[in-house]
Amino acid sequence: MIPHVPAADPHQELRAGVRALCKNYSDPYWRELDARRAYPDAFVKALTEAGYLAALIPEEFGGSGLGVTEASIILEEINRSGGNSGACHAQMYTMGTLLRHGSDSQKREYLPKIAAGELRLQAFGVSEPTTGSDTTQLKTTAVRKGDKYVIRGQKIWISRAEYSDLLLLIVRTTPIAEVKKRSEGLSVLLVDMRQAVGNGLTIRPIRTMMNHATTELFFDDLEVPVDTLVGEEGKGFRYLIDGLNAERILIAAECVGDGRWFIERATKYAKDRVVFGRPIGQNQGVQFPIARTHVNVEAADLMRIRAAELFDRGEACGAEANMAKLLAADASWEAANVTVQTFGGFGFAEEYDVERKFRETKLYQVAPISTNMILTYIGEHVLGLPRSY
Ligand SMILES: Cc1cc2nc3c(=O)[nH]c(=O)nc-3n(C[C@H](O)[C@H](O)[C@H](O)COP(=O)(O)OP(=O)(O)OC[C@H]3O[C@@H](n4cnc5c(N)ncnc54)[C@H](O)[C@@H]3O)c2cc1C
Repeated sequence: MIPHVPAADPHQELRAGVRALCKNYSDPYWRELDARRAYPDAFVKALTEAGYLAALIPEEFGGSGLGVTEASIILEEINRSGGNSGACHAQMYTMGTLLRHGSDSQKREYLPKIAAGELRLQAFGVSEPTTGSDTTQLKTTAVRKGDKYVIRGQKIWISRAEYSDLLLLIVRTTPIAEVKKRSEGLSVLLVDMRQAVGNGLTIRPIRTMMNHATTELFFDDLEVPVDTLVGEEGKGFRYLIDGLNAERILIAAECVGDGRWFIERATKYAKDRVVFGRPIGQNQGVQFPIARTHVNVEAADLMRIRAAELFDRGEACGAEANMAKLLAADASWEAANVTVQTFGGFGFAEEYDVERKFRETKLYQVAPISTNMILTYIGEHVLGLPRSY
């Protein structure tokens, strides 16, 4: 019988490149930033200069024109190394909206500068304090006044706003009472925050359980030129939905990276730590949870690869992208729990980084979309069950 020979990883070089870069930003770097709740400026700069953050930008605009598969590998490797892609992933998951729906002049103006690192597109403004997951009810409005939109309202959990020049913002341009469907009348604006802050936009940081640079935004009659509109007025919800599959796949890859990081740490510790005269990993009570979580992470990875391949071929991938996000987020969270358990008391000590990654990976149960909302999508759109809300 011919033995099964695994195909060579076509992304070996890409993985090796990201790994080499991440080696310069090891555990103490992230640990120290975490203690100060500081932004990883040096890491994001290095990643940008190496061209990785411009992976999805077409070559004609100075990027590398890669697919979501490759973009997801970059983020996976960052998390796999012990780092946190949360500091910079939005540039990738907002890119599709600009590429697919932005005008030629917007693309010419922004994309080469983003690719060169002269402009940062790291903020994505959807969530609001009073409406939460019920996005179509969002209350921030943009009212047209001559050649300007006047924006009023409030956003919450808008991450990296302090470290981004541009903000992709979802607003209501037609009152909900005047549209046939609640998903109509929303629009996407590309706001230049360098001019907006202090002129109607206020950014207030929110301190969270992990280092995530998230903020609250207050819009008090902020005026922006009408050409900040991306695509057609009123079609913003459609554009948002279009971008979500990429976002789900990218987050799934980060979770796979986290999961593998946890499993590696747990496995090593379980081999090295000797109690009752034997390595703790010799006990099946310790070994089996690690083995099980490994199975779950690898299974999630297969779904993520499948979703990414479908996405890059331009095929429908809503079900796969959502399943990948759910499986991977659950697997990384399980791996985080198992690793703390394996480390015993040391799992709680900052110097082992397990507690930091545990806090970081927990986020993906809730953001950018909560587990329940994915199950709702699967129930309604994949299985045809009655709509629940
Ligand atoms: C650190 C952090 C960073 C974030 N970054 C961004 C960002 O950059 N940009 C941005 O726009 N948003 C961001 N978010 C917001 C995030 O996307 C939301 O927190 C998330 O979508 C959930 O919305 P919510 O917090 O309002 O929860 P809610 O909508 O209030 O829901 C609370 C809980 O109830 C559940 N629930 C609600 N309705 C139902 C239902 N009908 N059926 C079953 N369960 C239900 C939800 O699943 C959830 O578990 C971030 C959040 C965090 C915490």
